Amino acid sequence: MLALLYNPALMSRAKQGSRDAKQGPGEAKRTSGETTRRVEAVIDPQGVLEGAGVRLRRSIGTREMNYLDPFLLLDDFGSHDPRDYEAGFPMHPHRGIETVTYVLSGAVRHKDTLGNSGSIGAGDIQWMTSGRGILHEEMPQVRPEGIAGFQLWVNLPAKAKMTAPRYQDVRADRIPEYTTPDGARIRVVAGTAGDVRGAVTDIAADPIYLDVLVPPRSVYRGPVERGHTAFAYVFQGSARFPGPGREEVAVPSPRLVVLGDGDEVRVTTADEPARFLLVSGKPLHEPIARYGPFVMNTREEIEQALEDLRRGTFVT
Ligand code: MN
Repeated sequence: MLALLYNPALMSRAKQGSRDAKQGPGEAKRTSGETTRRVEAVIDPQGVLEGAGVRLRRSIGTREMNYLDPFLLLDDFGSHDPRDYEAGFPMHPHRGIETVTYVLSGAVRHKDTLGNSGSIGAGDIQWMTSGRGILHEEMPQVRPEGIAGFQLWVNLPAKAKMTAPRYQDVRADRIPEYTTPDGARIRVVAGTAGDVRGAVTDIAADPIYLDVLVPPRSVYRGPVERGHTAFAYVFQGSARFPGPGREEVAVPSPRLVVLGDGDEVRVTTADEPARFLLVSGKPLHEPIARYGPFVMNTREEIEQALEDLRRGTFVT
């Protein structure tokens, strides 16, 4: 990992993960009087091989950034070479989390042992709440346009970890989109932006999930709930964020930008446009026990998940 802006407080918090979860970004700067969220860290995604051999760029869920409460993982997948993605993610379990798949181009075929199946195509979102357990496969399809998109894992609060699985599959044409007076184009996947309510609703983390395109020499401003964790993932062009001082920090894609606390996010562009995900969520401040696709609160609960898998009682 290359931390362009290295903030020791943030990094130690991320490394400690759950043990330090009570000191989230929400508390860190509440007394400073700041309203615009400033850059806390800029993280260069690292290449990983996941599933049966899929090349990904991971920026949350690494040794350096294990947990950004309530976000457990952020993967950016994109390639025109089938060898990078065709092996896919054969049948595997999840418990205690939500996986959010947003496809930019290409398609991912999805199937689970409960009988749900379908294809997530360009511009579509799948917000999957695993609850107590699903077994599914996620297979990127070989197409001339290749594959591009993101998967985000959102932690579930202890009281929701063993609920029934739930899917919110939203087709591209049902995701609200609007253009601000400044010319920024915003797709509202979850949360509210302007007066526009997102397509995905009733999620524990009360998330915002936006896909924002800012034209050159322009600005995006949007409210984000104070005390909620927020990040931007810049995936096209270059964006400028308020830095720790009076300066702006230029962030070329692809980079994860962890934002400090405040009421508003402000992003500007120079000669290049910028496209980024803007995501926020309410931190849980709960202990986490993490083992691959299972994220629970205690070690015993992880052992129970493994035992349920062995006994064939995982999916009920
Ligand atoms: Mn999965």
